[in-house]
Amino acid sequence: MSRNLFLDILYPRHCPVCHEITVPRGKKICDTCKEKLRPIQGPRCFCCSKPLERAEQEYCKDCGKIRQFQQGLGIFPYSTLLQNSLFQLKYGKRQEYGTFYGELAAYYSRDKIKNWEIDMVIPIPLHPRRLEKRGYNQAEIIAQAFGKKLDISVEKKILKRQKNTKPQKELNHQERKKNMKNAFVVQKKLNGENILLIDDIYTTGSTIEEAAKELKTAGAGKIFFLTIAIGADS
Ligand SMILES: [Zn+2]
Ligand SMILES: [Zn+2]
Repeated sequence: MSRNLFLDILYPRHCPVCHEITVPRGKKICDTCKEKLRPIQGPRCFCCSKPLERAEQEYCKDCGKIRQFQQGLGIFPYSTLLQNSLFQLKYGKRQEYGTFYGELAAYYSRDKIKNWEIDMVIPIPLHPRRLEKRGYNQAEIIAQAFGKKLDISVEKKILKRQKNTKPQKELNHQERKKNMKNAFVVQKKLNGENILLIDDIYTTGSTIEEAAKELKTAGAGKIFFLTIAIGADS
């Protein structure tokens, strides 16, 4: 019996779309669920890649001003499907979804990542207290799978969360910014490296902005980001 088959009997993989044990068993997603997972199509913000209503717009509302990051990419629209799936990844102990999404994100972003000349991947860290409670950092699982596929090193110790912030979803735009202020600290001096920040969801960008600001202050080069889901322009 192969090791994978053995593990699948003990811990069968669940499907990130229907949340049942995958059909056929052992696959990362059901054959029939695959087609429901579609990356974003159509006009997108030049800077953060948010889906836009009209192509003439060029930038979303949030990217009209100067950004700390260079550019970013969100793979899937933040639909009900992705909301449920990422919720299970975060709170439902479905770590396998993180690996699945990390590999898929690598597949969809390969060309862009090459152009960006990334030196290292940094997952958005959780506060130590939250990490202890949850047992794992979903962004880290995504980043590991992503980095492995594209052969880019994943640095987990450079960026640290020093503030146990409130969940962003309960806050409006201004409150989000305030909530994230000084949330991160950089533990190492940097030397012009281009960094790709990885997180599960991008909404207004205040988390990425705050992390990018700290990394640049510490000497990083250009900052980019990649997230599995990205909200629409509001
Ligand atoms: Zn399924
Ligand atoms: Zn934007």
